[in-house]
Amino acid sequence: MTIPGPVPPPSNSLEAMSQSYIDCYYSRTLATSETYPSAGGRIAADVCIVGGGLAGLTAALHLTRAGRSVVLLEAQRIAWGASGRNGGFVSAGYATGLSNIERRVGPDQARELYRLSMEGVEIVRGHIADLKIAEAQPVSGIVKAVRYDTRGAMRSSRDKQEREFGMRLRYLPREEVTAMFASPKYREGVLDEGAFHFHPLNYGRALAREAVRLGAAIFENSAVVSVDLEGARKRVKTRDAEIDAEQVLFTTGGYTGAVLPALKKAFLPIATYVLLTEHAPDLVRSAIRTTAAVLDDRRAGDYYRLVDGGSRILWGGRITTRTTDPRDIAALLRREMVTTYPQLSALKVEVAWSGLMSYARHLMPQIGQLRPGVWFCTAFGGHGMNTTAIGGTVVAEGMSGESDRYKLFAPFGLTWSGGVFGKAAAQLTYWSYQAADAAREYRSH
Ligand SMILES: Cc1cc2nc3c(=O)[nH]c(=O)nc-3n(C[C@H](O)[C@H](O)[C@H](O)COP(=O)(O)OP(=O)(O)OC[C@H]3O[C@@H](n4cnc5c(N)ncnc54)[C@H](O)[C@@H]3O)c2cc1C
Repeated sequence: MTIPGPVPPPSNSLEAMSQSYIDCYYSRTLATSETYPSAGGRIAADVCIVGGGLAGLTAALHLTRAGRSVVLLEAQRIAWGASGRNGGFVSAGYATGLSNIERRVGPDQARELYRLSMEGVEIVRGHIADLKIAEAQPVSGIVKAVRYDTRGAMRSSRDKQEREFGMRLRYLPREEVTAMFASPKYREGVLDEGAFHFHPLNYGRALAREAVRLGAAIFENSAVVSVDLEGARKRVKTRDAEIDAEQVLFTTGGYTGAVLPALKKAFLPIATYVLLTEHAPDLVRSAIRTTAAVLDDRRAGDYYRLVDGGSRILWGGRITTRTTDPRDIAALLRREMVTTYPQLSALKVEVAWSGLMSYARHLMPQIGQLRPGVWFCTAFGGHGMNTTAIGGTVVAEGMSGESDRYKLFAPFGLTWSGGVFGKAAAQLTYWSYQAADAAREYRSH
């Protein structure tokens, strides 16, 4: 196998290269300028990975370290999808709560799965430390804040999580939460000291760099257009290349197309939005007085954090089944920000963007083997930073015969997403959550 290494961008400048990513905070603050060629000719490998987000990259690194020859094909740029444009929150858990997981698999397996989600956080932390990815800029602490009085429920759920999982969680009464976040909205909070926030695009690109250093072949601008998965050797085609591999792994997330119908039918693409404010350190500090990130517990809640040395806010929120962008994402999100912090009414938005997440109906990741040699690892929803790390790890362990931990996800298979009916149901569920959240908040005033 010929393995091409990184090639410099034509102008060799970060600015030129960042243009092939969507315009967002992360592409504006890229730390390095490597690019990868597009795939051409016939290539043989042990494993072909389709999709270069954090799920595919984590698996690629693990498999390369385990001595497999790996080809990774990415339709656009490394971590171009959700992985390189998200909120950057890395915390334990899944897109659905422990009680929902328990209902499907019982308390013991639910706890095992939760522990895997915690291991996912440690995998990301470990990569940053071991590979010295300073440009991932990790900052400790995520606060979960609530906008209503939980009447003791938040404190007891904190105690339970500490007891069962040994998490480092600090309960924040109203005075403390509002000392950190100067908003009249918040009533209580819990600070997760083991969670952190970071620059996911720089992180993803560093994983790619390391995989290539160890021998993986990574190709950008190499969309997979067809596959033949019947024989013992699988064939994966891009416009200019044919990859012949013993095993294929699909990690195409919310951008999954029609190449593998079983995957396409099993997920709903859900959009969510983020904005970056202008540089305004004093104004920003009048609202947010901590380096910890915050998310509120509403199911359609806001999540935000300071970036750029505390001088700007990166604010995310809203989810929708509408996959085309609304005309003014910035105005939509800005309204949420100013309702929470009236003192920020003069703060301007510099850029706003959207991204697609992949959700299964059961809200859990889909990880497993479709048939011998054909694997999938997707549907991480809005909680992908830790779960892509553990998903990519357990699927790689399964592919290389190191473990069968991926089977813990078997109860959450590729169930039909419901197509357009699933979309309508998801949107209705979201609106009903919004209404329930608003009612709960209203009752506690
Ligand atoms: C705006 C936003 C904010 C979020 N905030 C957070 C957060 O703060 N914390 C958190 O934990 N999670 C967050 N998430 C969720 C998280 O980003 C995702 O769950 C995670 O990144 C999914 O990773 P992935 O590798 O599965 O998919 P992606 O990162 O989407 O990667 C899939 C890749 O596959 C490629 N691809 C698709 N089809 C093909 C093909 N035919 N051939 C080749 N390549 C193909 C795509 O180009 C894409 O790069 C957020 C998501 C969004 C959109």
